[in-house]
Amino acid sequence: MTQTATGKFAPNMDQAAHDAELVDKLATENQALRARMAYLLEQAERNHSIMTRHQAFDLNIVSAGNFPELVGTILSVLPVISELDAVTLTLLDEGADIRTVMLKLDVVFADFPDLIFVEALEALGFELAERTTTSPPPKPLLGMFDAQRHGAAFPNAPAGLQSVALVPLLRNKRIIGSLNLASRDPTRFTPSLGTDFVEHMASIVAICLENVISNEMLKYIGLTDSLTGVYNRRYIDRRLLEEIARARRQAYPISFMYIDVDHFKRVNDTVGHGGGDEVLREVATRIKNELRTSDALARFGGEEFVVLLIDAPLDSAAFVAERIRAGIANTMIALTPELQVSVTVSIGVAALHPGEAEGDPAAIARAWVAAADLRLYAAKEAGRNRVVSTAPAE
Ligand code: GH3
Ligand code: MG
Ligand code: MG
Repeated sequence: MTQTATGKFAPNMDQAAHDAELVDKLATENQALRARMAYLLEQAERNHSIMTRHQAFDLNIVSAGNFPELVGTILSVLPVISELDAVTLTLLDEGADIRTVMLKLDVVFADFPDLIFVEALEALGFELAERTTTSPPPKPLLGMFDAQRHGAAFPNAPAGLQSVALVPLLRNKRIIGSLNLASRDPTRFTPSLGTDFVEHMASIVAICLENVISNEMLKYIGLTDSLTGVYNRRYIDRRLLEEIARARRQAYPISFMYIDVDHFKRVNDTVGHGGGDEVLREVATRIKNELRTSDALARFGGEEFVVLLIDAPLDSAAFVAERIRAGIANTMIALTPELQVSVTVSIGVAALHPGEAEGDPAAIARAWVAAADLRLYAAKEAGRNRVVSTAPAE
């Protein structure tokens, strides 16, 4: 109600003023509601877009075919879709098994500077005190970024990080690593914040990691010899066909060595089967020492090894073979400080020069291996501990 200057009430004026006030109020309210709705709509759209991006991310990582693809996707896509300033991944790798296998499968770790390996659970930094089998798994650690505390999780931290979330990667309550998220926004991760979203994300990342790592392990086991750790016959049979095709396309020579330990029965008789196994491991190591990374060494079975040399003509392969022979013959193998054994090998070498690789790769591979085998036999016949790189009749 309004009062006039005379002190009397003026009902007409009063009504009008009242109406105007109401309209004003409604307009303000309406504006506020609109603003609120616009805000909610914006939030809903933003959440929808985040969800869609995360769903796409989930699909992406679920379909990653191998370890580098998975790790590459996590480290490159997650910072973008989650609008984070740093994302890193720490994997618990006791005994370095994961690294050993991945290196064997030609994973280049230098490509992933934000992939970190730790040997012990404690190094991950989660609260593990008094943990029993029934205690709940550790929760994510959210809070202020502290260069000293978080430096290990963010080895290449960009300047200005303010808040972090270290999220445990769990499989069946077992910690396999941690997903580390950081932001320049100090309010992004605070201890009071809910962790459902990051935990859900980490659970998918953990499943994918475990899957891909076990698949890679199986791949590795299927391609390697368990005694010596070098490739097995199955691997080299397949690789021979690939390399014959490649050598043909790129017109370079490739060579093949057939290596057989001399009188290995006697070695076994002298040092026992276990000692014999140790000798085979040492022979594999010494062969490997003479090879380039592009060459492939495999145990063909028993005390026989083969080497495939890429872009190597016969004379250089024969030169490498001679170094291998000497490397084994010239230094005794020490099984224990007291027990040393002298071992020699015979080697047959055959090359495939450009122009000789025409026709069916499987047939070429068979003939090529047979040629090296024949030369190995010639080396045995000639007295062992030698390299033969020419056909016996030549
Ligand atoms: P040669 O100089 O003619 O090659 O003589 P050799 O005694 O090496 O020949 P042979 O091929 O007849 O013998 C190979 C021996 O290698 C027989 C087998 O007991 C042994 N052997 C095969 N596989 C293994 C293995 O995995 N470990 C051990 N310790 N011995 C093995
Ligand atoms: Mg043999
Ligand atoms: Mg032998």
